[in-house]
Amino acid sequence: NHAPVSVIGLGSMGSALAQAFLDAGHPTTVWNRSPGKADKLLASGATRAATVAEAVSAGDLIVICVLDYQAMREIVGSAGDALDGRVIVNLTSGTPEEARETATWAAGRGVRYLDGAIMAVPDMIGGADTLIFYGGSKAVCAAHASVLTAIAGGGAYLGEDAGLPSLYDVALLGLMWTTWAGLLHSLALVGAGGVPASAFLPYAQAWFEHVIGPEIPVIAGQVDQGVYPDADSALGMQAIAIEHLLDASRAQQVDAGLPQFLKDRTEQAIRRGHAGDGFGSLFEVLRRPSGEC
Ligand code: NDP
Repeated sequence: NHAPVSVIGLGSMGSALAQAFLDAGHPTTVWNRSPGKADKLLASGATRAATVAEAVSAGDLIVICVLDYQAMREIVGSAGDALDGRVIVNLTSGTPEEARETATWAAGRGVRYLDGAIMAVPDMIGGADTLIFYGGSKAVCAAHASVLTAIAGGGAYLGEDAGLPSLYDVALLGLMWTTWAGLLHSLALVGAGGVPASAFLPYAQAWFEHVIGPEIPVIAGQVDQGVYPDADSALGMQAIAIEHLLDASRAQQVDAGLPQFLKDRTEQAIRRGHAGDGFGSLFEVLRRPSGEC
């Protein structure tokens, strides 16, 4: 299946996407606001579209990847009637709300729309394990799945809600940043005690492997069931250890924002009756900060 594809937006990511389609043998038409960015792809066999409308008309599948949704909507909107009945896969990053609004707009314009979130850097595009989340039209995803494997072998369709890819995207980024922030706080704490990160590293890595990692499915299971049993390590007991972390951070003159956050949320969970539950019960205060069900 060497269906013709158009790629709109040739920044670092769009260029990698277009190159991957070319490598997989798809006739590829490209358009970018600054036309010079197409030159390298033209040398690899791509065709330049003079206008957005031309790009939109050339591909069975139109992949767009630009800075943000505002730019995406401006560009695609400029194609006019050429949009009718076309298939757009929007891989621009944004919020779930922007994705849902764009899906509604697309439906009103007779555009078949699939939203996507790329969980990779440009170098990883085309890889067998590279992950792109998709959401929106199931029919579009099913009809074009084999073409989309050219850019990412590990594509995952999440459902008809076009906001889901962005939701998974920000949730995974949040997991990454908060985990890294926790690691950096621990390194700041031992660093203030004169310990180089390299000396602490083996213990941090073993902690991830033997303590943090194995708890992930346990906590996920508790969240789904809405019960958080942990008699051996109840929140009331952990709250005392969190107090130690806060005191030690202050004493070492390390930023105490993260331990303060943990103390506040733990106390909130205890006030809501979770003193005898495990750490997973913090889900309840994070999910419903005001306490309503
Ligand atoms: P770049 O900054 O390299 O490219 C931005 C692209 O957007 C260019 O093609 C630029 O055109 C275009 N653009 C910006 N504003 C406008 C506008 N008003 N009208 C028309 N075109 C416009 O960004 P990337 O390619 O790296 O990223 C593109 C998308 O991919 C973003 O949403 C990003 O979050 C996402 N992404 C990027 C990753 C990465 O590692 N790079 C990873 C995962 C997602 P011009 O060349 O004319 O300036």
